Amino acid sequence: MGVANDHSIAWGIAKNLADHGAQLAFTYQGEALRKRVEPLANSVGSNLLVPCDVEDIASVDEVFATLARKWGKIDFLVHAIAYSDKNELKGRYADTTRDNFSKTMVISCFSFTEIAKRAADLMHDGGSIITLTYGGSTRVMPNYNVMGVAKAALEASVRYLASDFGPQGVRVNAISAGPIRTLAGAGITDARLMFNYQRAHAPLRRTVSIEEVGGSALYLLSDLASGVTGEVHFVDSGYNIISMPHPEALKA
Ligand code: NAD
Repeated sequence: MGVANDHSIAWGIAKNLADHGAQLAFTYQGEALRKRVEPLANSVGSNLLVPCDVEDIASVDEVFATLARKWGKIDFLVHAIAYSDKNELKGRYADTTRDNFSKTMVISCFSFTEIAKRAADLMHDGGSIITLTYGGSTRVMPNYNVMGVAKAALEASVRYLASDFGPQGVRVNAISAGPIRTLAGAGITDARLMFNYQRAHAPLRRTVSIEEVGGSALYLLSDLASGVTGEVHFVDSGYNIISMPHPEALKA
């Protein structure tokens, strides 16, 4: 859930899963995106596409009713969905409006709880669920603002859901990706500066690709990670461990 085009993190994940033999279904947000998602889905052998706008709970229910009808059960789910008003992804967090706070939280955080609950119901032999987060959840990233607050709540949801579903063998984890040039990523003011800063200061001195996020997702969604739940796993070139930029990078 969350492919908008071939730059989407969800697409990097889907491609990697398909390359390793997974059978996939895709959701798309609205008819305009169907035109982009359908050829991508077809290219990995999937013709199961269902519309889903997480603001409309009936469409979420329809996704899982369709999966129940077609497959009866599922093994994993990827939630790669976020939204906030672009005008509030700049300036001060303090100026966030009540309306956009609610909308951001419902789409970027609460949708994960609603979706995970329905997915877990279809995981009859255990399963694995992941969502996508960003380090702006625990440390202040200029302009990330309300999205950082939503990601903090999303990461807390991962831990509570991991506890709820653990007894039935369903694991819940998050991947915290470094900045990647996607539609959503470009919505953050000065995103280019974020990319450049990451390149200059992350231990690996570069940003990460959607394929690299896909590799870590494959691990978390497969039995390779059968003992892992409730985790926030960083795929960010190591940026999260840095306190002060390296003096050599500062001198350059
Ligand atoms: P993207 O724009 O390709 O994907 C965002 C997706 O969210 C789109 O497919 C869009 O259709 C979907 N979406 C938004 N509102 C929706 C709604 N109401 N109902 C259903 N779907 C809705 O961008 P992306 O960067 O691939 O984002 C995927 C996830 O990765 C997001 O949670 C984002 O916060 C997270 N993330 C992104 C970055 C980055 O730098 N790009 C870094 C860390 C985490």
